[in-house]
Amino acid sequence: MTATTPETSAGGLLALIRSGEAATRAELGRLTGLSRSAVAVRVAALAEAGLVVEGAGASTGGRPAGSLAFDVDAGAVVGVAIGRSRTQIGVYDLAGREIVGDTRDHDVGTGPEELLPDIASRVATAVERVGPPVLGIGMSLPGTVDPERRVSVDAPVMKGWDGVPLAPHLTAVVDAPVHLANDTAALTRSELFGPPPLGSDLLVVKASTGLGLGIIADGRLVHGDRGVTGELGHTRVDGADDLLCRCGAHGCLETVAAGWSLVHRLTEQGGTARHVRDLVALALDGDPLARSLLRESGRRVGEVLAVAVNLLHPQTVVVGGDMGAAFDLYTAGMREAVYARAAASVARDLRFAPAAHGDSAGLVGCAALVIDHELSPAAVDARLRAGRAPG
Ligand SMILES: [Zn+2]
Repeated sequence: MTATTPETSAGGLLALIRSGEAATRAELGRLTGLSRSAVAVRVAALAEAGLVVEGAGASTGGRPAGSLAFDVDAGAVVGVAIGRSRTQIGVYDLAGREIVGDTRDHDVGTGPEELLPDIASRVATAVERVGPPVLGIGMSLPGTVDPERRVSVDAPVMKGWDGVPLAPHLTAVVDAPVHLANDTAALTRSELFGPPPLGSDLLVVKASTGLGLGIIADGRLVHGDRGVTGELGHTRVDGADDLLCRCGAHGCLETVAAGWSLVHRLTEQGGTARHVRDLVALALDGDPLARSLLRESGRRVGEVLAVAVNLLHPQTVVVGGDMGAAFDLYTAGMREAVYARAAASVARDLRFAPAAHGDSAGLVGCAALVIDHELSPAAVDARLRAGRAPG
């Protein structure tokens, strides 16, 4: 069996229907090599579980009789993206379309004992408004997380969060599995979700309060050892030796280019900004200092990014996060630095693009985290064996 042979279980067939590779029983049979009766049994199980709908009509978008479609309303997923100063909550259908959204700011430094009960009650309210069962909850936090234990293990800007169990607050209000990812990993995952990705090899920069880098290689998200990739911001750079980073080291890229350091420099020079989003708003309003800080940050990030560009040879560098909202301004310096430092043969066709899901990218990534896990062939097969409906 080669890696490209589709899985022949019911869950494997669902994956072929979801991806659009197969829309009829005949196509499923052709792709999997299964007999007509074997396909029929599996499709019947998927239909009984409500995951697949059949035939013509509004529910399948007017497809011809006998055609099969994934029922995106068979369940819902919840996304919870916790940031330093705001939390985004969303309920999504199984195609990743938002049904309910709820974004609120909170004070920097708000601890888990205060924020988690608030998030849980907002999730409960959002889920109440939605009919279908919830397949799972996807959650993201800045810093390093342990997806197995579902705790934060190193979040320098989220004081008091390390080691605090995150799932119990949510499972108390919604009976569904909780999946946890780091914020940059969630942002990166969102690029594989929805519109076709801008290549099979992508570098995804999260330029926000902190700086992170996500990697998609051969169309797959790269997880790294212990789930940690892309510590772009804590690369030592020239000319920053005396600058203390929030990680405790001196001379990190973050000290000259992260949102937190830009805000610090802006206020030092008489500007007013509490968060990097304020600084971005000032820049888009034409404030010369905010504009020069953003351009300079893009250039410094680009200098380090050039190495990663040479190593991966991506088709596209995606720029998301709060500073990505000033995309043209931010990437002007970044392009300049990457083109100056990366190999010409690699940089020649390189594109820069904003995050596909804009300001919601991290949240969409949380929803995608659940969908990718809970609708994987193995998870679907386990559900069918257990005789459970999607929820
Ligand atoms: Zn650092």
